[in-house]
Amino acid sequence: MIIAVDGPTASGKGTIASALAAHFELPLLDTGLLYRAVGRQVFLDGGDPDDAGDALAACSFPDSLLNDPHLRTEETGGLASRVSVHPGVRQALFDRQRAFATQPGGAVLDGRDIGTVIAPDADVKLFITASVDARAERRWKEMQARGVATTLDDIALDIRRRDERDMGRKDAPLVAAPDALVIDTSDLSRDDAIAAAIDAVKIGS
Ligand code: C5P
Repeated sequence: MIIAVDGPTASGKGTIASALAAHFELPLLDTGLLYRAVGRQVFLDGGDPDDAGDALAACSFPDSLLNDPHLRTEETGGLASRVSVHPGVRQALFDRQRAFATQPGGAVLDGRDIGTVIAPDADVKLFITASVDARAERRWKEMQARGVATTLDDIALDIRRRDERDMGRKDAPLVAAPDALVIDTSDLSRDDAIAAAIDAVKIGS
């Protein structure tokens, strides 16, 4: 069974995808991490994330980079969003994601274009979303807990920018697949959101 979990930043899709993988005992690929690795590699190379050539060169990042704690930062998230607009980058990362999706036994993948581009044949497609305010507040709490000084307004601005870039790009924009089930987590607790997703997979598969 292939489960596609797409949605905007801080919607809860990562949490939901890992809970689904644990519940249904399937391997999980966080595809955002691949784009983050490309963004980080451009930075390490001293390149320009908006330059298609620099971004493409960074796609041959070493696998060890996937364990770099810097990948989780907001800065790297911003770089990932910039390199991910280049069609060459998306193409370079396609085979790896497609191979993961089609492995025997199935898989859970979370990202932006899993249900539309990487696995349009997925058995279940979920699109996880939430209001900008709810997402900003969650991200703010996470950052407070990590001791990162920032304001709610700055985070909301960053989320809006990221949404615009991810939804506005020509190649593989962030959009719910027509056959995706949309789950709005704005007013759901973590456990309720996970339960809703598990129910959706049971019904959909
Ligand atoms: O999900 P995450 O925040 O780690 O993703 C970082 C960025 O990578 C996103 O903002 C998006 O621009 C890009 N991305 C993408 N397609 C995916 C996964 C992530 O374009 N499948």
